[in-house]
Amino acid sequence: MKFLIIGAGPAGLTFAYHALERGHDVKVYEGRNVFAFKPCGEALHGEALEVLPFDIHENHKWILTRFKQVNIYFEGVYLRTISSPFKDKGIIINKAAFLQDLADVVIKKGGKIEMGKFFKFKEENADYIIDSSGYLTAFRNLDREMYSSYRVIPVLRDYAVANGVIENDQLLFDLLDRGYFWIFPYGKDTYNIGIGGFYSGIELKKILDKKIEAFGLRIFKEKRQGASVSIGGVLKKRAIGNIRIIGEAAGFVMPTTGEGIRFSIYSALEFFGHAGLIKKIERRINLNAKLLARLINLNTKKKAKLLSKADESLMAAFLGERDFSFKDFFSAITLLQY
Ligand SMILES: Cc1cc2nc3c(=O)[nH]c(=O)nc-3n(C[C@H](O)[C@H](O)[C@H](O)COP(=O)(O)OP(=O)(O)OC[C@H]3O[C@@H](n4cnc5c(N)ncnc54)[C@H](O)[C@@H]3O)c2cc1C
Repeated sequence: MKFLIIGAGPAGLTFAYHALERGHDVKVYEGRNVFAFKPCGEALHGEALEVLPFDIHENHKWILTRFKQVNIYFEGVYLRTISSPFKDKGIIINKAAFLQDLADVVIKKGGKIEMGKFFKFKEENADYIIDSSGYLTAFRNLDREMYSSYRVIPVLRDYAVANGVIENDQLLFDLLDRGYFWIFPYGKDTYNIGIGGFYSGIELKKILDKKIEAFGLRIFKEKRQGASVSIGGVLKKRAIGNIRIIGEAAGFVMPTTGEGIRFSIYSALEFFGHAGLIKKIERRINLNAKLLARLINLNTKKKAKLLSKADESLMAAFLGERDFSFKDFFSAITLLQY
């Protein structure tokens, strides 16, 4: 079979790799001239590497650090430090270098990648067109009804330098009333920082500038970039004729955290079977989208209380690392009542 893949992000390149492994023809169009043009926090759950030709235990040059803990703040006030919900598989990556390595494997296996070429519909014949165009969702206009639940929030990302804001094996998550601010380690005294949420672009910029001052960060080479991230959950329908939609274009992002690399990688497997795994991820993301809609409407005091008192297992559910069970539901209600 011949596949045309739109976008050389985590989803598109994973699809290309698996299609080639099964002996198919693959051509990838990437609109940009570089990999990972879109900004990202670059935190990855390394379990996703198990479906790629990379071993998490090896020292790949794109693994910048392995994190073990997460410092939780609320509106700039430190609350607590929890063990990473990713256990021993949390890594910060240089996403461009990671995608370059994956693209090299794809090319070595006979796949073609055209950089700097935005896909135009009906340009070429193929058995299947794979839409892995991320939040830009190349086919959104083809079936508006199908995309009616697709929601995004704006996100800004910078690189910064500072002295010891966090340890190299820690992440910092400062939850905001309607969003989140992050500081992730990115090499010695260097950090990937960013902010996202239910704010306008102008509000986000103002809050980010305040955070930069409050945490004593110095912006590293004006690298601020903005994009959007999907928070509406997974599209119910992910096929239009011979088009298959995968990755963030299909909403495979955890709404409470904006974590999308791992789920986009997994979503690329749907075409090749793995229905059970995809159903599980879909359900978890969709429950998390509902949870986010409720959390956002809690008053500020209750949000702070939940974050400071929830046990680590409940925190893992809030962060979308596992399904939200009835037990979690009741412990959250109990916490909010007393
Ligand atoms: C600021 C920010 C921070 C984030 N932080 C994290 C994080 O720390 N961890 C995490 O797991 N997730 C994070 N995410 C989410 C994550 O980046 C995405 O969910 C993930 O990259 C989605 O992968 P994808 O392959 O589906 O799409 P993308 O990575 O968006 O890749 C899509 C590719 O398609 C190309 N493209 C689009 N349209 C066309 C076209 N018509 N023709 C050709 N090419 C096209 C784009 O140029 C792009 O390269 C973040 C997102 C943002 C915006």
